[in-house]
Amino acid sequence: MKTIPGIRLDGGTTIPQLGLGVFKMDRVSAQASVEQALAIGYRHIDTAATYYNEREVGKAIAASGVPREALFVTTKLPNDAHKAGDVDGAFGRSLEALGLNYVDLYLIHWPMPGVDKYVATWRRLESFLADGRAAAIGVSNFLVPHLERLFAETDVRPVVDQIECHPLFQQRELRAYLGRHGIVAEAWGPLGQGKYDLAGHPAIAQAAGVHGVSPAQVVLRWHVQQGRVAIPKAASAAHQRENLDVWNFKLTDAELAAIDRLDSGSRLGGDPNLVNDVIIHPGVGP
Ligand code: NAD
Repeated sequence: MKTIPGIRLDGGTTIPQLGLGVFKMDRVSAQASVEQALAIGYRHIDTAATYYNEREVGKAIAASGVPREALFVTTKLPNDAHKAGDVDGAFGRSLEALGLNYVDLYLIHWPMPGVDKYVATWRRLESFLADGRAAAIGVSNFLVPHLERLFAETDVRPVVDQIECHPLFQQRELRAYLGRHGIVAEAWGPLGQGKYDLAGHPAIAQAAGVHGVSPAQVVLRWHVQQGRVAIPKAASAAHQRENLDVWNFKLTDAELAAIDRLDSGSRLGGDPNLVNDVIIHPGVGP
């Protein structure tokens, strides 16, 4: 089984560059999909309290027999607890649901600038880092002004910003800023959430043909070759295997540049400046 390359985070932990995202996996499918992924060789799982499947992710981890220290588990603070100031309570509930005594990475899911609590919330995450219940702490959907405030008003810098990033929405300026500050960019929706046809873009289809790989593999290779972490969601074993197998080919500079040119600047998900409450996703709930 091939080892997945990792990126060393400030503070010493290493994040595998490819992981499995479990957004919109219901309880039954989440447990089975994570068990299958761990058997295939995934060692990095990305969940969140608001995916309502932490308990099933935990059961899959326990059943897998994979040693805890070989795994990288991320979960995220839900917006309602962030808003209510119940950060410690929410973190404790996530650990309990996962059946773990620490997570590898704990993220603030959204900055919710209209609520204006992310600085105080971040200080609580700093305490989880200090007491060892989070091996690393980071943010998600934070834009430059939100990060600048954290830098100015708190002590520990986030090591990861998990942001929407795929060929049609690349956030190059934000990524350059993250790079300058030593923050790893982690791509959510790395395959465009299945909302557009990757093969419909000649830059992707042509590279797939040349390298004898799938359009999804080209896109994931584009992410990892440019230094990002990607956490594609896949339930089937075939897609999970395919998504993990992007280490035996290399895109040329011209191929990378052709994908870079696909950026249309339009989001598929929420605008971080406008998300100030719980997000309701049809079919996802307690
Ligand atoms: P994604 O880009 O991973 O796309 C998933 C879709 O692609 C699914 O429909 C899946 O069936 C399909 N797919 C997967 N592998 C494929 C393959 N090899 N060929 C063809 N189709 C394939 O979208 P996502 O699930 O929204 O994002 C990935 C993860 O990012 C989530 O599961 C979650 O963990 C995380 N996420 C975080 C946030 C956030 O706000 N922090 C938001 C959304 C998602």
